[in-house]
Amino acid sequence: MSLLRSHTKALLEFDLSERQLRQFDALTDLLLDWNQRMNLTGITDPAEIVVKHYLDSLSLAQVVSQFDSKTLIDVGTGAGFPGLPLAIAFPKLRATLLDSTRKKLRFIEYACDALGLANVGAVHARAEDAGRSEAHRERYDIVVARAVAKMPALMEYTLPLARPDGQVIAMRGTAAFEETNEAAKAIDLLGGELFTIEELRLPTLDNPRYLVVIDKIRPTPRRFPRSAGLPEREPIR
Ligand code: SAM
Repeated sequence: MSLLRSHTKALLEFDLSERQLRQFDALTDLLLDWNQRMNLTGITDPAEIVVKHYLDSLSLAQVVSQFDSKTLIDVGTGAGFPGLPLAIAFPKLRATLLDSTRKKLRFIEYACDALGLANVGAVHARAEDAGRSEAHRERYDIVVARAVAKMPALMEYTLPLARPDGQVIAMRGTAAFEETNEAAKAIDLLGGELFTIEELRLPTLDNPRYLVVIDKIRPTPRRFPRSAGLPEREPIR
């Protein structure tokens, strides 16, 4: 945990409390325990979990000036990344963790109970359906996603959920610039505008990671998102 303690100060500009550090410890234990029974993560070394799951998730604080009291939805959260680390680090953030796989959400619900995290809601839905529902469409200040889909489809999953003036942040790898270019039409059509692509480096990792930040500047036209599966099968080009 010393890696987490020493690096969060630089990422977050504040120290995690003892309680928060204990919550991260407990999350690691739960992740490794549940991972023996279901496929939650390919990363099983605790030090790697800190870097590739926790620090990577918390790196979003580099491009969001203030998480407290904002609403955030993590689309395709899987075992809770980046949403869970953000909810631990920012207790006033209201985090919705969405995934189409029910059993991963059971892990998240169990973990939130065990960690005493009251600022997380788990939603079982496809992003396309959530984007057309009254409860989720244009409701969120911040929409985040890591490792869910190619950029054009991801834009159709995420931009409809952001409120006008909100932001979408896509966590990408080394092809971020090229992928964002490929999604230019989708970003524009769905009401977004590229704000910045921020490079970040994490301890012990050779390759940089990129945060693609998109401002929601107009409401998303009613015809988007299209029905489940279409954004991936017939991406906007
Ligand atoms: N974001 C997590 C992470 O980085 O560790 C999980 C990544 S995992 C590779 C992709 C997740 O996205 C899976 O849990 C999958 O069920 C979910 N997913 C894919 N397409 C989705 C969709 N259209 N709506 C909701 N969830 C989706």
